[in-house]
Amino acid sequence: MRLQDKVALITGASSGIGRETALLFAAEGAAVVVADVNDKDGEKTAADVTAAGGKAVYVHADVSKASDSENMVRVAEDTFGKLNILFNNAGIMHSADDNAITTEENIWDLTMAINLKGVFLGCKYGIPALRRAGGGSIINTASFVALLGAATPQLAYTASKGGVLSMTRELAVIHARENIRVNALCPGPLRTELLMSFLNTEEKKQRRLVHVPMGRFGEAKEIAYAALYLASDESSFVTGTEFLVDGGITAAYVTPE
Ligand code: NAD
Repeated sequence: MRLQDKVALITGASSGIGRETALLFAAEGAAVVVADVNDKDGEKTAADVTAAGGKAVYVHADVSKASDSENMVRVAEDTFGKLNILFNNAGIMHSADDNAITTEENIWDLTMAINLKGVFLGCKYGIPALRRAGGGSIINTASFVALLGAATPQLAYTASKGGVLSMTRELAVIHARENIRVNALCPGPLRTELLMSFLNTEEKKQRRLVHVPMGRFGEAKEIAYAALYLASDESSFVTGTEFLVDGGITAAYVTPE
């Protein structure tokens, strides 16, 4: 198994990418800490892991709060003895996030608090735990929007993901000689709750799909497999990357008809 004897903490693991990753990491031998604000679905992720023969515990953690972030790391060490993998994946895309003129300040602040400060806080409390374990792997979920601009604006979301990408690079450089690898995972548009509630009409979906060479939305499972590679020792020389799993969207200028 590819994550035998590892302990992984995954934020936003009640749904989408985080949930699929929790199930996959556990199937590959990791003990998983499922962290989220959605307790009902988070408990379900942990229960599903256990029912499949794996090890998991759920912890309520709002990643924008320092005390919750500190606690989720403590739960990992108290429950499973150590922390080897930190997947800072929780994020929001607010329906009122728009252009600079129309986006309210509170929407900007909320998005930054969860998507960007949440990653910082995960690292603030997670890195000392990884050090105690002799090193490890951090994966921060950014997005293809950190690399491309869109005329359908989500200014706060895009800026937050740009921040995640540049913060990841710097963290990778700082901690490279401590056996701590830090990579960003940049998904393309996915068929998860987050994007489908935003692209809530067929017309909006098609407008986005026109730009994806593969002509379809990605699945959370396809991102989980990339996270598995970055989490495992197979990626031992990989750090500071912007790991794209995007159906070709960032490579495209004109897509096939
Ligand atoms: P999702 O909505 O299915 O899952 C996100 C999870 O984060 C939910 O379980 C939610 O409860 C949790 N969450 C929200 N706020 C939180 C907080 N303050 N503290 C802890 N947990 C919180 O979405 P997803 O598509 O699986 O998204 C996961 C990550 O992938 C996000 O960072 C998102 O920005 C990123 N991403 C998604 C897409 C896409 O198209 N879906 C594309 C690129 C990047």
